[in-house]
Amino acid sequence: MDHMNEEMECMCLECGASSYLPKSDIVMEDPTSIDSKMLNSLLVCSICGGQLKLIGKAGDEPFYRLE
Ligand SMILES: [Zn+2]
Repeated sequence: MDHMNEEMECMCLECGASSYLPKSDIVMEDPTSIDSKMLNSLLVCSICGGQLKLIGKAGDEPFYRLE
């Protein structure tokens, strides 16, 4: 797998739609906090414009952490 093109799955908090974003595009609101999975406000739902929340790597079970 090419980790440079790894995709992360995000979910809209407003409408629940899933979005897949390249890992390189994702900026955390607070990278020092494990609990903060809110994404930068520039990244919004393409359907409703709502705030996105990071779920995990694309294809992973939700909330499962590989570390
Ligand atoms: Zn939405």
